[in-house]
Amino acid sequence: MAGATREIVVATTNPGKLAEISELLDEFAVRIRSLADFGPVEEAVEDKETFAENARKKAQHYSGLLDRWVLADDSGLEVEALRGQPGVHSARFAQAETTDRKEQDRANNVKLMKLLKGIPVEKRGARFCCHLCLASPAEVLLEVEGHVNGLITEAPAGELGFGYDPYFYVPAQGKTAAQMDYQEKNSVSHRGRALRKLLEKLPEILKNYS
Ligand code: IMP
Repeated sequence: MAGATREIVVATTNPGKLAEISELLDEFAVRIRSLADFGPVEEAVEDKETFAENARKKAQHYSGLLDRWVLADDSGLEVEALRGQPGVHSARFAQAETTDRKEQDRANNVKLMKLLKGIPVEKRGARFCCHLCLASPAEVLLEVEGHVNGLITEAPAGELGFGYDPYFYVPAQGKTAAQMDYQEKNSVSHRGRALRKLLEKLPEILKNYS
């Protein structure tokens, strides 16, 4: 990219997501910042019905507040047998009374196991979805989405990743998302797929706004 390096703030406080997004954008001539670099910022309220709307709301909220380009992601798990739950409520599915992310993840997985108890493995189809929105303070620049299909296991496997990863088995890889390092997970994941779509279109956008 000619001229100054474009700065993009990744609108997440989730270190797992930030690491995955940074790993992919690393190959690119953009400078990644995180919300944490800006001190306390009024949090966007994720109250929409779809991943796409929440991602757009977050991107526009933070880019307006910070006066910078912002990349926001909204993602989650949709389980067929639960008619798409937990969906946009994935992060606080169990409504655990804690702000500790690991504790929330643990409670969410306990709830998921409870709801799927007795359902055979072939009926435990699920997908992770990720919607990304890149916005400048003036407008939405780009919106993309990515998915990965899998099965919800009965027992956890793997120590890596976050959220529902230990229970999300990807048949093509023969392992759960928590058994994949960043690179492998990004190569198959919903977020990786959405990010690659974004990266394909980013040069054009950077050119138009340089
Ligand atoms: P968000 O921060 O509102 O997008 O919430 C996303 C939630 O969905 C996370 O807190 C996780 O519970 C779940 N989730 C999204 N992506 C992943 C993933 O890659 N692995 C495991 N869980 C995920």
